[in-house]
Parts: sequence; structure tokens; C-alpha cells
Amino acid sequence: MNTLTESLEAYVRAMPKVELHVHLEGSIRPETLLELAARHRVELPARTVDELREWYAFRDFDHFVEVYLAAAGCIRTPADVERIAADFLEGQAAQNVLHSEVTYTASTQRMLSGIPLDDQLEAINRARAAAERDHGVTMSLTIDYPRHLDPDEFVGVAHWAVDNMERGVSALGLGGPEVGYPPELFERAFAVASEAGLPSVPHAGETEGAESIRGALRALDAVRIGHGVRCLEDPELVAELRDRQIPLEVCPTSNVCLGVAPSFGEHPLPRLLDTGLYVTLNSDDPPMFGTTLTDEYLKAAAAFGLGAGDVRDLVVRAAEATLLPPADKATLLERVRQGFEALPKSTPLS
Ligand SMILES: [Zn+2]
Repeated sequence: MNTLTESLEAYVRAMPKVELHVHLEGSIRPETLLELAARHRVELPARTVDELREWYAFRDFDHFVEVYLAAAGCIRTPADVERIAADFLEGQAAQNVLHSEVTYTASTQRMLSGIPLDDQLEAINRARAAAERDHGVTMSLTIDYPRHLDPDEFVGVAHWAVDNMERGVSALGLGGPEVGYPPELFERAFAVASEAGLPSVPHAGETEGAESIRGALRALDAVRIGHGVRCLEDPELVAELRDRQIPLEVCPTSNVCLGVAPSFGEHPLPRLLDTGLYVTLNSDDPPMFGTTLTDEYLKAAAAFGLGAGDVRDLVVRAAEATLLPPADKATLLERVRQGFEALPKSTPLS
């Protein structure tokens, strides 16, 4: 892996950013998790922050699911939900992430903690309002549903998501194990969303191939694809995604951890870019994969020789692919433009 010039590293750290694919429950800080576990007397396999960091770090998929569920299981009250959302937004603000579209699995939280969906959303919205006021950063929610659960229950969740489009819900998502659970199973939930004008943003083409992405486009009317990197296995699909400029939410470190790419240096990001696909860069479950959005930019710049112009283009593309109402999107694009303009002029521009 190449090293970055100091000025490019400083540029990436300081530049304004936009994130489209990051999970709220996958972003819980180890420190916060330890605190919540102590408060609710939940046994975790670690007692100190250092031990917890070690346990948190990615080993394999089964371990990842264990960590994910243990973390989600420490969220017991609306105040906990507000706390993780506030932590998350503080972390985004520290990276100069101006706007985040955040995936949240409200139905799993309801199953684990019994907190009603409305109370969860209200808690997140308290954190959202505080972050906008205190840090000037915004967020909206992609409400997703795990594929291995009940498609009928998902229809109910979709109705709830639609009812909350004025309260911060900006998309309907689909997560969980992709293999064995094709998009077509969830057509009814996404039809509810589509009828109400709530955009469809499913995961597809991560651990499954081109058929899954095609299913997401055809059966779920996807306007963006979570991951989508395996589209490269099918030239016809690549042509369609390129012609329609469907944004892909690419998360390289996550792909390496989950074995979708053998290493960061071998990640297909450069091929996706060279093919003319609409690429955005994202962090997915940052502390669990030992990354941040800033790290994804730094690592991509170092591994693939991206310059300041390239990283700026990626940020602008992410801003343009947000699901914000037109006036808010124009405001975000202007903030991004001004943010780049304010960066030191000595910085190389390509
Ligand atoms: Zn994801």
C-alpha cells in the first residue's frame, strides 16, 4: 500500500463528507457498550475498554453476528437509543460528516428490548435535533429489516416507516443474510413504500451476485444499492447500473472483513470507478470493522493512488445521491462546495 502525502492526509481529514451507508447499532462505541452493559447488568465477554475493543474487532462472520447482537442487546431503554444516536452523530461531526443516511433496524430493537417503534424514533429524533443544533450535522434514517425474519412483519414495518416520512425516515432498507433470501421475498413491503414515495435502498450484491442486484432493481425498485460490488460479475448488469447511474454504497473495509474482497488492495473499487459506475464510499459498521469514514477515504487514496480531486468527486457524488428534499439537497451541496473551498489552497488538487 502506498503512503499518502501529509497534505493529502490533512485534506481528507478536514474535508466535508457525506455518508450513505452506516448502521446505527453497528456504530456503538465500545466505551458506551461497556457502560450500558454495566447499567443493565448484561454479561459481556470483556470488562475493560481494551478487552472490549479486542472482542469487538472483526474475526469472522459468526463472531461479528455475536458482537452485533450483544451490542444491540445492551440497548434497553429509549435513553440508551438516544445515547447511541448522540454518540454516533458526535463522531460524524468530528469527521466533518455533514449529512448521514443511517440504517436502523427498529424491529430487531423492539424484539430485543420491547421498546415500541415510535419511542425508538422519538429518542433518535431528540439526538438528531441536538446534533443539528450543537454540531450543524444532519441525519435521516433508512429503516431496514433482516431478510431471515418474517416478510409479513416487514410489511407492517414498511407501513410504520411510511407513516414517519415527516419524522426523519428517508428510505426503506433490507439487511441480514443475502444468501438464500432473494429480494423477491420482500416485494410487498417495498410496494407499500413505493406507493407512498418512500425510496428503496436495499443491501444487494455483497455476499450474493448479480441476480440479487437485478432482483433489488426489478422487484424492489431500488434507487441505490447497499454494496453492489458484485455487479462486476455481469457485464450487462454493469451496463444497466452505469446507464441508469444507480449509486452504489461501497464499503471496502467491510467487504474485506466479510471476505467479499481478499484484501483492501485487491478491492474492486478502482474497477467500479473506471467502469463509470456511480460509486460512493462508506463505513458500514465502523468500530466493528476497525474503521471510520475518514479511514475509508485515507485507505482508498493510499491503496489506489486517488488524489484530492478524486476524493472530492466521491464526496460530491455522495451528496448528490442523498434522498433529501430538493431544497435541502441544494443546501447540502452548497455546504460541501464551501467546505472544500475553505480548505488550504496549498493542497494538491488532483
Ligand atoms: Zn450494511
